[in-house]
Amino acid sequence: MSGGRPDILFPLFAGLETLTGVGPKTAKAMAGLNVERPRDLLFTLPNSVIDRRRRDTVQGAHIGEVVTVEVTVVRHQKPSRKGLPYRVTVEDDALAFQLVFFRGAPDWIEKQLPLGERRLVSGKVEMYDGQFQMPHPDHILAVEDAGTLPKFEPVYPLAAGVTQKVMVKAVAATRALVPVVNEWIDANLRAREGWPDFSTALEQAHVPLSGHEIAATSPARQRLAYDELFSHQVTLALARAQVRRAKGRQNTSNGALRARVLAALPFTPTGAQERAMVAIADDMASPKRMNRLLMGDVGSGKTLVALDALLVAVEAGGQGVMMAPTEILARQHLEGLRPLAEAAGVVLELLTGRDKGRERKAKLEALARGDIQILVGTHAVFQDDVIYHDLRLAIVDEQHRFGVSQRMALAKKGSGVDVLVMTATPIPRSLSLAQFGDMDVSILDEKPPGRTPVKTALNSTERLADVIAHLKSATDEGRQAYWVCPLVEESEVVDMMAAEERFKVLRAALGEGRVGLVHGQMPPEAKDDTMRRFAAGELLVLVATTVIEVGVNVPNASIMVIERAEHFGLAQLHQLRGRVGRGAVASTCLLLYQAPLTQSGRRRLDIMRDTDDGFRIAEEDLAIRGAGDVLGTAQSGLPRFRVADLERQSALMALAQSDARALLTLDPKLESPRGVAVRVLLWLMGRDEAIRLISVG
Ligand code: ADP
Ligand code: MG
Repeated sequence: MSGGRPDILFPLFAGLETLTGVGPKTAKAMAGLNVERPRDLLFTLPNSVIDRRRRDTVQGAHIGEVVTVEVTVVRHQKPSRKGLPYRVTVEDDALAFQLVFFRGAPDWIEKQLPLGERRLVSGKVEMYDGQFQMPHPDHILAVEDAGTLPKFEPVYPLAAGVTQKVMVKAVAATRALVPVVNEWIDANLRAREGWPDFSTALEQAHVPLSGHEIAATSPARQRLAYDELFSHQVTLALARAQVRRAKGRQNTSNGALRARVLAALPFTPTGAQERAMVAIADDMASPKRMNRLLMGDVGSGKTLVALDALLVAVEAGGQGVMMAPTEILARQHLEGLRPLAEAAGVVLELLTGRDKGRERKAKLEALARGDIQILVGTHAVFQDDVIYHDLRLAIVDEQHRFGVSQRMALAKKGSGVDVLVMTATPIPRSLSLAQFGDMDVSILDEKPPGRTPVKTALNSTERLADVIAHLKSATDEGRQAYWVCPLVEESEVVDMMAAEERFKVLRAALGEGRVGLVHGQMPPEAKDDTMRRFAAGELLVLVATTVIEVGVNVPNASIMVIERAEHFGLAQLHQLRGRVGRGAVASTCLLLYQAPLTQSGRRRLDIMRDTDDGFRIAEEDLAIRGAGDVLGTAQSGLPRFRVADLERQSALMALAQSDARALLTLDPKLESPRGVAVRVLLWLMGRDEAIRLISVG
């Protein structure tokens, strides 16, 4: 079975047109809901329900309330002139009222509501001239068909060209295709949580018998969310097992180079740095392959930990590589690492997309000979023609945007290469489990001593003139500042123009040669040159779009001004603020906002003012915005969960992870009865990646 998708699931993966009532046009329109196959419909759950419980009469209904009532049709009243509605008088048990049609062919109305017949009608009621009326009922049913209208009608998310009726029908058709499956959830867990079996859960979720069944806390929803999270965690656990099974190299080292570096440092490592370095060296020394995440807020000192790991690789007789997401950061790493590497007598080089021709060739040759021991660079370091003499460790910096499969591809540059991923974006635990569940994690939760915390203040843009005046006196004292321009428009060009505008204003106010500008549209050389002049203290103010967001280190910069701060994500503000407070002087971060702030805008900026703990900020961000937004789902490597709500069901994620790991410990190849059932789940959830891992394992 590991060969292919089980036959019983085929209909769920067929084209949408195979469903009764779904034509090619509707099938196409469903793409707007990210629905491509019948199975996607199963996990597209209603957002709410409409109460369509029957009553005897509209009497006593509130205006705007949905009423479902059986009536007798007593009179048709065609519009006497154009623009007036067609009215049909009906009688329920207690009262006569009117059904009103502003559009719709009279023939159709007559056919739907034949004089003298009984009908079930359901829709919102209004008052008109002191009488109830129901404009355009949602449902008009013959009494014998009344059973097709559920008491609680599910309300699905919609897209252009997809109506509620289409959704209800398509989902019902899909549910009929769901095969009988064996339970994949652990029996004890299911009993403890009181979860229904899979098909009952689908039934309750799609045909709710009350409003409660729509809640994220309902057993049916919890179960389906768990199915999703669990399949994801099994995938990660399989990836993890595979990486660990893949024989690593035993990078045994004598610590000589590292000792030299530590001796050359002007400080001693923090406890958190020590712990991370020990964990990494242990991992690297073990015959298993390392697959570790180093998470640390900006300024927590990840670079030293990275260097220490690279030196383990070198001490063991091999090479190490560190990849940064941008040219600027790669250069900065080079500058930070080179003096220390030199202290240890280790050869360190830079390779980026800008290396061309003869120079590049010479570097590649040195690398292939093993003359370069540590390589720092951009994506260029993993290009096909880059050959390492003996690569032992690959570090990926600031790449929280990497997915599982990319991470695995990266390790292919050498046999049994240890992998360390570093991220400066603290993320809440539930999300880190979702995203990095396949890795072991080290957290730098201790800041190096001697930092003065950054003082953060909020200010309305109305006070821009004051702000500039203050900045002037600060720069007169030789202080340096970042000025981050708003990201308001969709287009980079518009943002660039805003930045250029601000640049002109500041240059006029602060002095010609003192202000520089960097933005995403500049040629890289010009950008680097400006950054370099700022770092060297030639420029006092750097006006920038968010290109400075990640990693840039200019210790003398002690002022950060962020314009239209309400437009930025909390994580981003935190990253930006982390650019200052790196030196000995007290630093300031000024968040400028455009009044009036929305309530959540105010709350977000207040959090920034009140804490500089990246993990706390991340938790708050998640609470305010939701998981997809926090990570930017598309680029995060995090799958789209259709049912699971990481915010409200975060405990489920942790549960799913430990369950998945436990299952694979007992049954690494998924061959037990439960294991076989889990395979069906993996197929059902489209986790083909995981299936491939079992087949190769
Ligand atoms: P990160 O990459 O985690 O944002 P860095 O590694 O760039 O942080 O470190 C930030 C600054 O702190 C650097 O200037 C570095 O030299 C310094 N630093 C690192 N570790 C310590 C420490 N244990 N004590 C004092 N300063 C440290
Ligand atoms: Mg860094």
